[in-house]
Amino acid sequence: MRKMCVMLALLACLAGCGMTRPAGGTEPAATEPSGGEWGVLGAESVTPVPMQTQTQAPEETPEPKPASLAEICPEKVTVWLDGVAVEGLARDGAALVEAGQWTDRWSWFRGDGDGKTWSFTGEWTDEQAKPPEISCVEAERFSGVECVYYSGDEEEYWIPAEWVALRFGYQYLEDPEQQAVYVTPYVDTQEIPTGVSVPVLMYHAVSDDLWGIEELFVSPDDMRAQLEYLTENGYDPIFFSDLSHLSDYDKPVILTLDDGYDDNYTELFPLLQEYDVKATVFVITGFLGTEHYMTADQAREMSESGLVDIQSHTVHHPELEELDYDAQKDEISQSRLEVARVTGRIPYVLAYPSGSRNDDTLSIMPDYYALGVDMNGGTWVTGESWYKVDRIYISRMDTLDDFAAKLS
Ligand SMILES: [Zn+2]
Repeated sequence: MRKMCVMLALLACLAGCGMTRPAGGTEPAATEPSGGEWGVLGAESVTPVPMQTQTQAPEETPEPKPASLAEICPEKVTVWLDGVAVEGLARDGAALVEAGQWTDRWSWFRGDGDGKTWSFTGEWTDEQAKPPEISCVEAERFSGVECVYYSGDEEEYWIPAEWVALRFGYQYLEDPEQQAVYVTPYVDTQEIPTGVSVPVLMYHAVSDDLWGIEELFVSPDDMRAQLEYLTENGYDPIFFSDLSHLSDYDKPVILTLDDGYDDNYTELFPLLQEYDVKATVFVITGFLGTEHYMTADQAREMSESGLVDIQSHTVHHPELEELDYDAQKDEISQSRLEVARVTGRIPYVLAYPSGSRNDDTLSIMPDYYALGVDMNGGTWVTGESWYKVDRIYISRMDTLDDFAAKLS
């Protein structure tokens, strides 16, 4: 677009300078490259234009040289698009991400801009679902809510992250302390088919190094046998986020591990990779990197593998029902932020430590999470309560037969 403008400006300039194209034939050589004659050279067949008294083109308002975008928006912000960090720009409290970055992450974002709007160009089966276009303004005039259009060497469209989140129902979380913003697809429980039985298994440690309560340590050999059992018997180990397309699975099952022990990384993770099985780990964010607990880097690596969903088990593992409202809110909201900092993804499920919760807990939860899970209760039936998800406890004492019986 910019190059086109320059060409048009040049043509306008040629006319404005009083230069005329030769009517035909060879343009006579200009023996005097400067002077009034320029106006009439070889112009016998056209009306002569007034002689120019100046040797240069008449003054036109020069098109302002665009400042670099970095000059206009010097402040940077890291924007995490579902676990992938991209460099964004911060302006007037908005975090902006270049359109190509959105498209790289979410192909439906494909679109075109005309300097005034950004329109989506994907194919939409349902016209109602076609995303709205967003109006754009030149970078210099940006006031905080619009798409920013910038024309430098190439055209750029920078779309506010919060606009995308609001329009498309994504989770959006600002982290001013870390100059970061998180955008994560939202798990909408309204899309989950109800009345479906989904066993949600609850584990803790996977190790034969029994440094704590013995029954919480499932042997790695037993874990291997259980994963083998699941895969050989047609079970589909899924994430909670897969519940929205539950009908894709014949025998869905959700494996969960509480607390975030380091053996989940050293013992369980290789098994998950070997059997290509998904599991959800509820980490206590304040314990990450302390003795017996996985580090933030290990949690991040597992999350990036696509086999482990890192979710929240609060910051300090308190009995929530013993805390007052504000203290509960701190544990619930702060752990959400801290998981996002570790994985680049906003968590959407919280496991209540020791299953402890009360009415305050249940009133706070919907502001921060889509689902809350208990310690027991048997096989969960979807839709009974999104904040009282039942689980099935698997202990070190369970034989493979016990395990199979608990699933059925
Ligand atoms: Zn726990």
